[in-house]
Amino acid sequence: MTMELVLAHLYPQHMNLYGDRGNVLALQYRSQKRGINFRVVDVEMGQDVDWQKVDIVFMGGGEDSHQAMIYEDFLGRKNSLAEALFRGLPMLAVCGAYQLLGHEYMMANGQNLEGIGFLDITTKPGEKRAIGDVVCDSLLGLEPKTLVGFENHGGQTFLGEKTRPLARVLLGKGNNGEDGTEGAVQAHTIGTYLHGSLLPKNPQLTDLLISWAVSRRAGDDVVLPPLDASWELAAHDVILKRVKI
Ligand code: GLN
Repeated sequence: MTMELVLAHLYPQHMNLYGDRGNVLALQYRSQKRGINFRVVDVEMGQDVDWQKVDIVFMGGGEDSHQAMIYEDFLGRKNSLAEALFRGLPMLAVCGAYQLLGHEYMMANGQNLEGIGFLDITTKPGEKRAIGDVVCDSLLGLEPKTLVGFENHGGQTFLGEKTRPLARVLLGKGNNGEDGTEGAVQAHTIGTYLHGSLLPKNPQLTDLLISWAVSRRAGDDVVLPPLDASWELAAHDVILKRVKI
């Protein structure tokens, strides 16, 4: 029987910066190449989701004004989504989405947006926007170890005790420009400041998310069949070479 994965793309109209949709395409591409049917369901404000039928969640970044538009709708999903994430539903949340997975995000204008509190993180406005290429060493045991991307955020995120960082920053600011951390991981949820898009240039992370989703669907640990990633890694290396570490 052919396996099908369903990805819920949350708020693609409002939360989609710097090619974030490329993450969805990368997950779809590397799944389909392995013979997995991959269906994308766009979820806008007011649309119900049955999380039981979802295998991966993606939500991209957004300007403060767009985060303010969707955050109440997102909060309305707090119980059902946090429960599903707690049970291991894989999610990738980039920048503005990452911030709203935490306890709260204070925007540049001082207004506080309450998050769903799944990640033990809090975000406040920084003095200067963090903008530019990012290279970091992931702490997920991936090969290659480096993740590359692009950040553009005003918020500074600080991790609490229940959440571990995704990576250690080699270039760029990451979570807050102070403690050297980038992103956060809890269960199978990854929050990160890396746009770029992230997954097309980091196939090892794409495959990790797919393997989490496939294993969850199969009810067993599944090792994905190897798949050429030479183009993706060539793009990865372009960013690595652009920076002097
Ligand atoms: N508006 C948020 C910030 O500036 C998130 C930006 C983004 O998603 N790139 O911190």
